[in-house]
Amino acid sequence: MRIDLHTHSNRSDGTDSPAELIANAVKAELDVVALTDHDSTEGWREAAKAAKKADITLVKGIEVSCLLNGKSIHLLGYNFDPGYAPLVTELERVIEGRNSRLPKTLERLRSLGIAIDESDVHRWSKNAVATGRPHIADALVELGVVANRDEAFEQFLMPGRPGYVDRYAADLFEAIGLLRDAGGRAVVAHPWSRGSHRVLTATVIGELKEAGLSGLEVDHNDHDAEARSALRYIARDLNLIVTGSSDYHGTGKINFDLGCNLTDPAQYHRLLG
Ligand code: AMP
Ligand code: ZN
Ligand code: FE
Ligand code: FE
Repeated sequence: MRIDLHTHSNRSDGTDSPAELIANAVKAELDVVALTDHDSTEGWREAAKAAKKADITLVKGIEVSCLLNGKSIHLLGYNFDPGYAPLVTELERVIEGRNSRLPKTLERLRSLGIAIDESDVHRWSKNAVATGRPHIADALVELGVVANRDEAFEQFLMPGRPGYVDRYAADLFEAIGLLRDAGGRAVVAHPWSRGSHRVLTATVIGELKEAGLSGLEVDHNDHDAEARSALRYIARDLNLIVTGSSDYHGTGKINFDLGCNLTDPAQYHRLLG
């Protein structure tokens, strides 16, 4: 069984529509694929329809933007009730934070001499529930300012760079509780990417487990072999489920192809069986 539990559609910052994502999952010979758009469940309906026709198992998921001690942490949620009111309210706050960040980011870029406005970004985010930095990156590529998304982050959009603006994100512990209370499962996405190993220590991961965390996404391209083996050790010690996924974004992220990392079927059954 080929199981990939973390992918994005153009309802957030991926480039495939939900139906295209399912078609590509079939091409990649996946048996199970989770759609986990940032902060939104908008793509579920279209993906479910396509998955039913294509005879592939869709897991309905999300990747919630969270914060822990001021550091951005992404939390995957699976099979929760998308209508659970406290969760809906929190996701609306996160989306509002994205929307209010956009004009501030563009103001900063203009102050650097880049002629960019909201319409340049909306061409790339038009199918999405809210804008993400990758859409701003796409606009910068189109304007000829940078060559690709990675370069846009490197020069302008990552923390510490001149186009970076903070936004609201959910408290990590609260988000785990909300997903659990909504009947779902929570897994920390790429726990040690981009310096988050400094906040996500083994002790803190133990506290997250106490708060209701089910697993860790160990096999992810942001983790080298050393990080994977250390995280696997922590997961085993805490009896947490281990997942592996692509974090596919269509053409928006190079070398994150569908199925490039997989989840072991036994772990999948522990998580969602
Ligand atoms: P946002 O939703 O605006 O916070 O942007 C998050 C998205 O940007 C995720 O899809 C990440 O994969 C991507 N991203 C974050 N940091 C970087 C980076 N340094 N280089 C490339 N992509 C990044
Ligand atoms: Zn993304
Ligand atoms: Fe992520
Ligand atoms: Fe992701």
